[in-house]
Amino acid sequence: EAQRSGQHSEDIASPKRTKDLLQKHGLTLKKSLGQNFLIDHNILGKIIGAAELDSTKGALEIGPGIGALTQQLAKAAGHVVAVEIDQRLLPLLEETLGGYPHATVIHGDVLKVDLKQLFAEHFQGVSRVSVVANLPYYVTTPIIMKLLEEKLPLENIVVMIQKEVAERMAAKPGGKDYGSLSIAVQYYCEPEIVTIVPHTVFVPQPNVDSAVIRLKVREKPRVEVEDEAFFFEVVQASFTQRRKTIYNNLAARFFTKETKEQLEPILREAGIEPSRRGETLSIEEYAVLSRRLSQALKLGV
Ligand code: SAM
Repeated sequence: EAQRSGQHSEDIASPKRTKDLLQKHGLTLKKSLGQNFLIDHNILGKIIGAAELDSTKGALEIGPGIGALTQQLAKAAGHVVAVEIDQRLLPLLEETLGGYPHATVIHGDVLKVDLKQLFAEHFQGVSRVSVVANLPYYVTTPIIMKLLEEKLPLENIVVMIQKEVAERMAAKPGGKDYGSLSIAVQYYCEPEIVTIVPHTVFVPQPNVDSAVIRLKVREKPRVEVEDEAFFFEVVQASFTQRRKTIYNNLAARFFTKETKEQLEPILREAGIEPSRRGETLSIEEYAVLSRRLSQALKLGV
């Protein structure tokens, strides 16, 4: 009745409602799909708050589950598109989102969906789009990298992820958390950990700690690089063996025994002491280094 009259169906973020809904639809959760559903209003509120939505904006949700976050997004944003891989959840989502005309569910694997086309089809009328999701943890990094590399016109990415991964994304140079994921994320975004989340807000409870992170997408990448693919190749190479120096890692990747003596002057010209380790270099230093290295390799060092 509530659905037909256009009113919001009852909020479902409680352990009992979640259990009842799953039971009614004869569903058991799949660990392999990262199905840990949110059952806490306070956390849902924090996620929504961090996304800074309003009725002029759109939200893309990845993995709506039974729709607890989707309902809140539909109240906060002008339009919500939710991509769910598990076909079994679709009838259930029809029920929980029936009273929310601003929410559209698409069945698919977000890693395979053509997001540019999805944006063109669903987000024409909105000013900005944010990704807001309680992500399936087994594919966090591929999902985030896809969103960033496709250079979608995003304002924010606000996601629940594993705490350790959030810490790596937000890490500054100099510590063990800082690596190629930190650099890739910070090249495109300004990360901020919004809150650390206890196990108890999920059904079933995951056996890792969680955090909500906001990635504010930059208008332009943090540094200017001529060749993005090469920049990231240099970054990757520099962390191949974390305990080795930047000199040793780069020599192994880009030089031979005969040519590697050329590397030391390249590093020095870039202002980088060859004995440093990859985890001490800032993104700006990697940009200078990749430019110098690319020039030198093109000259046939
Ligand atoms: N949003 C719900 C919540 O907060 O309660 C569910 C979050 S649950 C952690 C992750 C959801 O992502 C599940 O519903 C799962 O089926 C879905 N999922 C897993 N892999 C996916 C993929 N590759 N593409 C789209 N959805 C996926």
